[in-house]
Amino acid sequence: MLNVAELRRTVGGTENFFFREDFPPLQLGESKYFFQSPIEVHLTVNNTGKSLFVEGRINGGLEVMCSKCLKNFSYQMSFDFEDEFIPEKYYVENHDDNDAFVFDKDEFSIDERIQEHILLHLPMRFICSDSCQGLCPQCGTDLNLNSCTCVDNDIDPRLAILSKWNKGV
Ligand SMILES: [Zn+2]
Ligand SMILES: [Zn+2]
Repeated sequence: MLNVAELRRTVGGTENFFFREDFPPLQLGESKYFFQSPIEVHLTVNNTGKSLFVEGRINGGLEVMCSKCLKNFSYQMSFDFEDEFIPEKYYVENHDDNDAFVFDKDEFSIDERIQEHILLHLPMRFICSDSCQGLCPQCGTDLNLNSCTCVDNDIDPRLAILSKWNKGV
């Protein structure tokens, strides 16, 4: 819960918040992702007079699967975000603020809002490391651990010279 009782009455005022909280798993399409530890949320909130302008940082680890080698690994999230919390009375007057978070009390939960920010910042695919070789598309061998012989078989001899190039000989 975020308590802005004082801040919302102090135009021009700034307040810092920090909390550490357990979040339920994230559901993304068919996949479910579990957080490995509580999420840390830092907020610097400024009362602009019409809204509370938020600069935040989120840290946490998510258990995910590498889309190249299919191994589970820990994806470390750490990102900054901006947000705006608008008191209900101002929101009604101003319809341009559709993206803003609307609140009507001194104390409110922003858990769902935090989850939205997390979803927005997740990459399209999780890859365990820049150097991950993935699985052989033909035999399924994990090329990080082993090599296989089928890799080059399908390559058109005319392209073989190019593939040598790509490997940066
Ligand atoms: Zn991988
Ligand atoms: Zn293979």
